[in-house]
Amino acid sequence: MKPLIAGNWKMNGLAAASAEIDALIRLLGGSAPDDRDVLICPPATLVAAFAARYSDEAIQIGGQDCHPEANGAHTGDISAEMLADAGAGFVIVGHSERRADHGETDAVVKAKAQAAFRAGLTPIVCVGETKDQREAGKALEIVGAQLEGSLPETGEPFVVAYEPVWAIGTGLTPTIDDIAEMHDFIRSKTPQGTRLLYGGSVKPGNAKEILAVTNVNGALVGGASLKAADFHPIVTAA
Ligand code: 13P
Repeated sequence: MKPLIAGNWKMNGLAAASAEIDALIRLLGGSAPDDRDVLICPPATLVAAFAARYSDEAIQIGGQDCHPEANGAHTGDISAEMLADAGAGFVIVGHSERRADHGETDAVVKAKAQAAFRAGLTPIVCVGETKDQREAGKALEIVGAQLEGSLPETGEPFVVAYEPVWAIGTGLTPTIDDIAEMHDFIRSKTPQGTRLLYGGSVKPGNAKEILAVTNVNGALVGGASLKAADFHPIVTAA
Protein backbone atom coordinates (compact mmCIF):
# COMPACT_ATOMS: atom_id res chain seq x y z
CA MET A 1 0.00 0.00 0.00
CA LYS A 2 1.35 3.45 -0.87
CA PRO A 3 2.48 5.14 2.36
CA LEU A 4 0.86 8.41 3.41
CA ILE A 5 2.95 10.80 5.48
CA ALA A 6 0.68 13.55 6.77
CA GLY A 7 1.52 16.68 8.74
CA ASN A 8 -1.16 18.10 11.03
CA TRP A 9 -0.14 21.66 11.75
CA LYS A 10 -3.00 22.13 14.24
CA MET A 11 -3.41 25.84 15.20
CA ASN A 12 0.06 26.77 13.97
CA GLY A 13 1.21 28.65 10.91
CA LEU A 14 0.81 32.00 9.21
CA ALA A 15 1.22 32.62 5.48
CA ALA A 16 5.00 32.86 5.86
CA ALA A 17 5.09 29.20 6.96
CA SER A 18 5.02 28.31 3.26
CA ALA A 19 8.79 28.76 3.57
CA GLU A 20 8.88 25.43 5.43
CA ILE A 21 7.04 23.65 2.61
CA ASP A 22 9.35 25.30 0.08
CA ALA A 23 12.29 24.00 2.12
CA LEU A 24 10.76 20.52 2.32
CA ILE A 25 10.35 20.43 -1.46
CA ARG A 26 13.98 21.50 -1.91
CA LEU A 27 15.10 18.73 0.46
CA LEU A 28 13.00 16.25 -1.53
CA GLY A 29 14.79 17.32 -4.68
CA GLY A 30 12.06 19.46 -6.22
CA SER A 31 8.89 17.43 -5.76
CA ALA A 32 7.33 14.83 -3.47
CA PRO A 33 8.39 11.30 -4.52
CA ASP A 34 5.63 9.38 -6.32
CA ASP A 35 6.09 6.21 -4.24
CA ARG A 36 4.48 7.91 -1.23
CA ASP A 37 1.81 10.53 -0.59
CA VAL A 38 2.86 13.65 1.27
CA LEU A 39 0.07 15.68 2.84
CA ILE A 40 0.09 18.89 4.84
CA CYS A 41 -3.02 19.91 6.80
CA PRO A 42 -2.46 23.58 7.63
CA PRO A 43 -4.95 25.82 9.43
CA ALA A 44 -8.06 26.48 7.32
CA THR A 45 -6.87 30.01 6.57
CA LEU A 46 -3.99 28.61 4.50
CA VAL A 47 -5.68 25.73 2.67
CA ALA A 48 -6.60 27.61 -0.52
CA ALA A 49 -3.29 29.44 -0.87
CA PHE A 50 -1.21 26.32 -0.21
CA ALA A 51 -3.33 24.10 -2.48
CA ALA A 52 -2.83 26.57 -5.32
CA ARG A 53 0.87 27.04 -4.63
CA TYR A 54 1.86 23.36 -4.32
CA SER A 55 -0.38 21.64 -6.86
CA ASP A 56 2.61 21.09 -9.20
CA GLU A 57 4.94 19.69 -6.54
CA ALA A 58 2.77 16.72 -5.55
CA ILE A 59 2.42 17.98 -1.97
CA GLN A 60 -1.23 17.46 -1.13
CA ILE A 61 -3.19 19.79 1.11
CA GLY A 62 -5.93 18.84 3.55
CA GLY A 63 -8.22 20.29 6.19
CA GLN A 64 -8.16 19.54 9.92
CA ASP A 65 -11.92 19.32 10.42
CA CYS A 66 -15.22 19.86 8.60
CA HIS A 67 -18.86 20.35 9.52
CA PRO A 68 -21.23 17.47 8.64
CA GLU A 69 -23.49 19.76 6.59
CA ALA A 70 -22.64 21.34 3.25
CA ASN A 71 -23.74 24.85 4.25
CA GLY A 72 -26.06 26.66 6.63
CA ALA A 73 -26.25 28.70 9.82
CA HIS A 74 -23.12 27.41 11.58
CA THR A 75 -21.01 30.46 12.34
CA GLY A 76 -17.31 29.76 12.22
CA ASP A 77 -17.61 26.27 10.75
CA ILE A 78 -16.27 25.07 7.42
CA SER A 79 -17.87 22.39 5.25
CA ALA A 80 -16.16 19.59 3.39
CA GLU A 81 -17.42 21.18 0.16
CA MET A 82 -15.62 24.41 1.09
CA LEU A 83 -12.38 22.53 1.70
CA ALA A 84 -12.73 20.73 -1.63
CA ASP A 85 -13.48 24.05 -3.33
CA ALA A 86 -10.29 25.46 -1.76
CA GLY A 87 -8.27 22.62 -3.28
CA ALA A 88 -8.03 20.16 -0.38
CA GLY A 89 -7.94 16.43 -1.10
CA PHE A 90 -8.17 15.11 2.47
CA VAL A 91 -9.72 16.11 5.78
CA ILE A 92 -8.86 14.93 9.30
CA VAL A 93 -11.97 14.09 11.34
CA GLY A 94 -12.32 13.08 14.97
CA HIS A 95 -8.89 14.17 16.14
CA SER A 96 -8.70 13.64 19.90
CA GLU A 97 -8.25 17.39 20.40
CA ARG A 98 -11.59 17.96 18.70
CA ARG A 99 -13.22 15.08 20.54
CA ALA A 100 -11.97 16.63 23.82
CA ASP A 101 -12.21 20.39 23.11
CA HIS A 102 -15.48 20.32 21.15
CA GLY A 103 -17.21 17.27 22.62
CA GLU A 104 -17.30 15.42 19.31
CA THR A 105 -18.95 12.03 19.66
CA ASP A 106 -18.38 9.01 17.44
CA ALA A 107 -21.68 9.80 15.70
CA VAL A 108 -20.53 13.35 14.90
CA VAL A 109 -17.19 12.05 13.64
CA LYS A 110 -18.99 9.55 11.41
CA ALA A 111 -21.21 12.30 10.00
CA LYS A 112 -18.10 14.36 9.23
CA ALA A 113 -16.44 11.40 7.52
CA GLN A 114 -19.58 10.88 5.40
CA ALA A 115 -19.54 14.59 4.58
CA ALA A 116 -15.96 14.25 3.35
CA PHE A 117 -17.04 11.60 0.83
CA ARG A 118 -20.03 13.67 -0.23
CA ALA A 119 -17.57 16.46 -1.13
CA GLY A 120 -15.04 14.19 -2.83
CA LEU A 121 -12.47 14.34 -0.02
CA THR A 122 -10.75 11.39 1.63
CA PRO A 123 -11.35 11.42 5.40
CA ILE A 124 -8.61 10.58 7.90
CA VAL A 125 -10.60 9.24 10.84
CA CYS A 126 -8.71 9.46 14.15
CA VAL A 127 -9.08 7.02 17.03
CA GLY A 128 -7.05 6.35 20.15
CA GLU A 129 -7.23 5.57 23.84
CA THR A 130 -6.29 7.70 26.86
CA LYS A 131 -3.54 6.76 29.29
CA ASP A 132 -6.02 5.53 31.90
CA GLN A 133 -7.78 3.37 29.33
CA ARG A 134 -4.48 1.78 28.22
CA GLU A 135 -3.38 1.18 31.80
CA ALA A 136 -6.73 -0.47 32.50
CA GLY A 137 -6.05 -2.88 29.61
CA LYS A 138 -8.93 -1.40 27.60
CA ALA A 139 -7.10 0.08 24.60
CA LEU A 140 -8.40 -2.44 22.04
CA GLU A 141 -11.94 -2.28 23.42
CA ILE A 142 -12.00 1.55 23.32
CA VAL A 143 -10.54 1.79 19.83
CA GLY A 144 -12.88 -0.97 18.66
CA ALA A 145 -15.88 1.03 19.89
CA GLN A 146 -14.56 4.22 18.27
CA LEU A 147 -14.14 2.41 14.95
CA GLU A 148 -17.62 0.94 15.16
CA GLY A 149 -19.14 4.37 15.85
CA SER A 150 -17.07 6.68 13.68
CA LEU A 151 -16.16 4.92 10.45
CA PRO A 152 -18.01 6.04 7.32
CA GLU A 153 -20.21 3.62 5.42
CA THR A 154 -18.71 3.68 1.97
CA GLY A 155 -17.19 1.47 -0.66
CA GLU A 156 -14.40 3.96 -1.25
CA PRO A 157 -11.01 3.80 0.42
CA PHE A 158 -10.31 6.02 3.40
CA VAL A 159 -7.67 6.48 6.08
CA VAL A 160 -7.67 5.67 9.79
CA ALA A 161 -5.12 7.26 12.14
CA TYR A 162 -4.37 5.52 15.44
CA GLU A 163 -3.29 8.27 17.82
CA PRO A 164 -3.04 7.26 21.46
CA VAL A 165 -4.08 10.43 23.32
CA TRP A 166 -1.23 10.04 25.82
CA ALA A 167 1.36 9.94 23.02
CA ILE A 168 0.30 13.24 21.41
CA GLY A 169 2.80 16.01 22.04
CA THR A 170 4.36 14.18 24.98
CA GLY A 171 7.41 12.52 23.46
CA LEU A 172 5.95 9.18 24.62
CA THR A 173 5.10 6.39 22.19
CA PRO A 174 3.67 2.91 22.64
CA THR A 175 6.11 0.02 22.27
CA ILE A 176 6.55 -1.30 18.76
CA ASP A 177 4.69 -4.46 19.86
CA ASP A 178 1.76 -2.38 21.12
CA ILE A 179 1.63 -0.40 17.85
CA ALA A 180 1.72 -3.67 15.88
CA GLU A 181 -1.04 -5.22 18.01
CA MET A 182 -3.30 -2.20 17.62
CA HIS A 183 -2.71 -1.84 13.89
CA ASP A 184 -3.40 -5.56 13.31
CA PHE A 185 -6.61 -5.09 15.28
CA ILE A 186 -7.64 -2.00 13.29
CA ARG A 187 -6.81 -3.83 10.05
CA SER A 188 -9.22 -6.59 11.08
CA LYS A 189 -11.99 -4.02 11.65
CA THR A 190 -11.60 -1.89 8.50
CA PRO A 191 -12.32 -2.50 4.82
CA GLN A 192 -9.57 -3.76 2.54
CA GLY A 193 -7.51 -0.88 1.17
CA THR A 194 -7.83 1.30 4.27
CA ARG A 195 -4.54 3.05 4.96
CA LEU A 196 -3.64 2.95 8.65
CA LEU A 197 -1.50 5.77 10.03
CA TYR A 198 0.21 5.91 13.39
CA GLY A 199 0.30 9.30 15.13
CA GLY A 200 1.69 10.54 18.45
CA SER A 201 5.23 11.83 18.96
CA VAL A 202 6.51 10.61 15.58
CA LYS A 203 10.00 12.11 15.22
CA PRO A 204 12.98 11.69 12.88
CA GLY A 205 14.51 9.33 15.45
CA ASN A 206 11.61 6.84 15.68
CA ALA A 207 9.90 7.15 12.27
CA LYS A 208 11.78 4.34 10.52
CA GLU A 209 11.05 1.79 13.21
CA ILE A 210 7.37 2.74 13.46
CA LEU A 211 6.83 2.88 9.69
CA ALA A 212 8.37 -0.59 9.32
CA VAL A 213 5.57 -2.17 11.41
CA THR A 214 3.21 -4.41 9.44
CA ASN A 215 -0.11 -2.62 8.94
CA VAL A 216 1.40 0.81 9.57
CA ASN A 217 0.90 2.52 6.22
CA GLY A 218 2.07 5.97 7.17
CA ALA A 219 2.17 8.57 9.90
CA LEU A 220 0.14 11.53 11.13
CA VAL A 221 2.71 13.97 12.47
CA GLY A 222 2.05 17.01 14.63
CA GLY A 223 4.96 18.99 16.06
CA ALA A 224 7.61 17.44 13.84
CA SER A 225 5.71 18.43 10.67
CA LEU A 226 6.14 22.16 11.30
CA LYS A 227 9.82 22.33 10.35
CA ALA A 228 11.15 20.98 7.07
CA ALA A 229 14.31 19.76 8.80
CA ASP A 230 12.22 17.47 11.04
CA PHE A 231 9.52 16.48 8.56
CA HIS A 232 11.86 15.59 5.69
CA PRO A 233 13.52 12.61 7.45
CA ILE A 234 10.04 11.32 8.42
CA VAL A 235 8.78 11.62 4.83
CA THR A 236 11.80 9.70 3.54
CA ALA A 237 11.63 7.07 6.32
CA ALA A 238 8.52 5.49 4.78
P1 13P B 1 2.57 15.14 17.80
O1 13P B 1 3.29 14.54 16.62
O2 13P B 1 2.95 16.55 18.07
O3 13P B 1 2.66 14.23 19.00
O4 13P B 1 1.00 15.20 17.41
C1 13P B 1 0.39 14.09 16.86
C2 13P B 1 -0.94 14.48 16.36
O5 13P B 1 -1.84 14.79 17.12
C3 13P B 1 -1.13 14.51 14.91
O6 13P B 1 -2.48 14.63 14.57
